[in-house]
Amino acid sequence: MRRSETTLFTSREPGKQQSETARRLFRAGLVRQFGSGLYGFTPTGERVRQEVIDHLETEMRRIGARRVHLPQLNYSGIWEESGRWGDFDGEMFTLENRDGKRMCLAPSHEEGIVHLVEGTIRSYEDLPALFFQIGAKHRDDHARSGLLRTKEFTMKDAYSLHTTEESLSEYYKRMREAYIRIFDGLGIEFAIAKAENNVMGGNKSEEFLAVAESGTADLRWCSDDECRYGETDASPNADPAGIECPECGSELESGEGIEIGHIFELGTRYSEPMGLTIDTATGERQDVLMASYGIGVERLIYALVEQHGDDDGCQWSADGSGVVAPYAASIIPLEYDDELAAVADYLYEDCGPERTLLFDDPGQSIGERFAESDLLGIPKKIIIGNEFRESGEVELETRAGETEYVTVDAVPDRI
Ligand SMILES: [Zn+2]
Repeated sequence: MRRSETTLFTSREPGKQQSETARRLFRAGLVRQFGSGLYGFTPTGERVRQEVIDHLETEMRRIGARRVHLPQLNYSGIWEESGRWGDFDGEMFTLENRDGKRMCLAPSHEEGIVHLVEGTIRSYEDLPALFFQIGAKHRDDHARSGLLRTKEFTMKDAYSLHTTEESLSEYYKRMREAYIRIFDGLGIEFAIAKAENNVMGGNKSEEFLAVAESGTADLRWCSDDECRYGETDASPNADPAGIECPECGSELESGEGIEIGHIFELGTRYSEPMGLTIDTATGERQDVLMASYGIGVERLIYALVEQHGDDDGCQWSADGSGVVAPYAASIIPLEYDDELAAVADYLYEDCGPERTLLFDDPGQSIGERFAESDLLGIPKKIIIGNEFRESGEVELETRAGETEYVTVDAVPDRI
């Protein structure tokens, strides 16, 4: 994008948000508040949100999940069948339509997925099946720290359906491994903790928690990066006095965590009350076994900035790169004029206008351009300055401050 043709929403004001991370997100102009627990994404913020969504979708397709889209607005019927109507830990938004029919904004879609497949999945031969969607969820949660607890958020939710416990366990494991790849791929430090199923029901569940200075739960996690063991105060196996990892014996660290994912073995919790059955190989009727799997998109964005942001603003990974950065590089001419402007335009076309931010506003100082690029966490700056005038080389500077000089033609390969 050309800086002159986009609206950046960046701000030099320190901001009044509750946490340092929230203030960074606001100063970078990624989100705008629409009231307690409600946020809109600006063009820059939406680029980041979409990068996260793409990352999640790629991994879901890789494990054979098929994308669906279920309505956010539900009639009460399916929720009454499952026994969750009006409840959901007091977080369900309910309303009445013009005909006096009771409706809700879906806080989750276990009921929806049962309704989707009812009448079509009838036999053991139709299973296993794995579906996912990425879209809005609504929960009347206590709003907190911008993007950490909100009333509307984006979720990647997936649901698997099975005939046997073995099949369910295999898919649960497959999804668990996919989640590890997703969070590793984003460069998030996280742990996996056993959790109570509470509002979802079922037999077993695990939470994925990003390590944070200020999060949604107290977290103790294994200091060995490969281990992933974690526990919260709500983990059924928690030992608040424990100092050693029960899985590998390494030291446990303690602090806070942000819940970024949750996976549930639901068993027949939904199929039984809702009557979702199949014919088995021996001709008997059997309740379908289910599991569900969720990742919160805004929580992930928050966790990335929480872990990697610094005094200069957002940063999307420990080394300053990061797959979800809003732009791969910023192109910063000392001044957007004459020869420097011509090279800047050339590099802009060569590196890709979709992936780069060209600072072409005549009114901005070089310092302002640097500060804005860092605030957004753009991994690389292509600086066209005095060195270019002398030797014809441009300076590449990473978000972490490492620099090198390269010829103009060598730039695209380095971005
Ligand atoms: Zn361990």
